[in-house]
Amino acid sequence: MINFRLATTLLVLLFIILIGFSYKTLEEKLCNNLVLYVSNEPLNSKVTSIRSFNQAVNINITPRKTPVYNESLKVVYLTFDDGPSQNTLTILDILKEKNVKGTFFVNYHPNCDAIYKKIHEDGHAIGNHTYSHDFSRIYQSESAFFEDYDKLNSYLQSIIGFAPDIMRFPGGSNTGYGKNDIMKSLTKELKTRGIEYFDWNSLNGDAEGQALNRNQLIEKVKHTSLNKNKLIVLMHDSNTKQSTVDSLPEIIDYFSSQGYIFSPLAKGGFSIQYTK
Ligand SMILES: [Zn+2]
Repeated sequence: MINFRLATTLLVLLFIILIGFSYKTLEEKLCNNLVLYVSNEPLNSKVTSIRSFNQAVNINITPRKTPVYNESLKVVYLTFDDGPSQNTLTILDILKEKNVKGTFFVNYHPNCDAIYKKIHEDGHAIGNHTYSHDFSRIYQSESAFFEDYDKLNSYLQSIIGFAPDIMRFPGGSNTGYGKNDIMKSLTKELKTRGIEYFDWNSLNGDAEGQALNRNQLIEKVKHTSLNKNKLIVLMHDSNTKQSTVDSLPEIIDYFSSQGYIFSPLAKGGFSIQYTK
């Protein structure tokens, strides 16, 4: 009897330890420990109050309209690659404060469902940047690429209600990581599918080997955007790129002062494509 009680107690203790361990593991996986506050209110409610990470949020899915293209208009398309990350919410806050819409070329990151939704709910464009961002895998072959690409599409479909019609290749469409013929077949297949891919004609340099500080990022954007009416600016949304976040308000103010308006990217609008 005593042995039975002892065994039961041990089992209960083991169970409690296991539960605690899985909870800790889960916490660690929560989109880099981000805490997003989402509401339980019905359809179209804003992200506001109750902490509820993996709970479904009701959102109104509206297909994005293609903006009217105007050659003479000065337009800047801010793009953020590789997220979501622990910086995404701050980036979204800055964009909201400045009343700017941008484009997020996302990968898959576990337990970030609410962040993808918030990007979409805030009115920014979301593009497919592949599921894994693993160059050695995705640029191995056309089938390897689309297996990875489609995996992210399925995920996004389940989270935001649609698969994006815009994308960006990790490294760009002329990436040295992929063989030239592979890039050509990939771009061809995307066109067949009606998907538009976007490269860039301006950047802040936050992906350069040596990390640039806030002021260097601002200078790089100013330098690479000179004398261009339409700008697709490459930046990154990742945990290690705090200086990108720090420089963002001034970069936005700079473009505003130069007479640019801000727009999310859309299929059929302005585009930069290195590999045709
Ligand atoms: Zn990337």
